[in-house]
Amino acid sequence: MMVVTRRLTAERLAELKTLLMGMQRVVQVRLRLHREELIATERPKPDDGELVNGLEIALIGMRTANLHEIEQALLRIATGTYGRCQCKGSISYHRLKALPTVRTCTTCAEREERKTGRMSRYSGFSAQH
Ligand SMILES: [Zn+2]
Repeated sequence: MMVVTRRLTAERLAELKTLLMGMQRVVQVRLRLHREELIATERPKPDDGELVNGLEIALIGMRTANLHEIEQALLRIATGTYGRCQCKGSISYHRLKALPTVRTCTTCAEREERKTGRMSRYSGFSAQH
């Protein structure tokens, strides 16, 4: 039996899966085009080529990391752990829809932000809690 979290119905999960698969396709295509471009623009002169390739490689690295995030999210859907935070709480459907690869619930994300000191600019909100 598949365990469905409170807020994620099978229908919503299927919708998020479609969304993730669409993202995966886009990144894969971009990554392939980028690699092809990199090979095509490879220059015989190492001086010019090095700078351009360094930038391109950084971009490819970013997209590869992004693709990995998407693959991990799809894996979590397959194993039934998608939408579950490390605190065992469930991540809201709206949060997942906005950020399909997200791994933390809003509470944990805020705690993380506070830990890294970025919460200072949100201090005005603390009175609401
Ligand atoms: Zn959490």
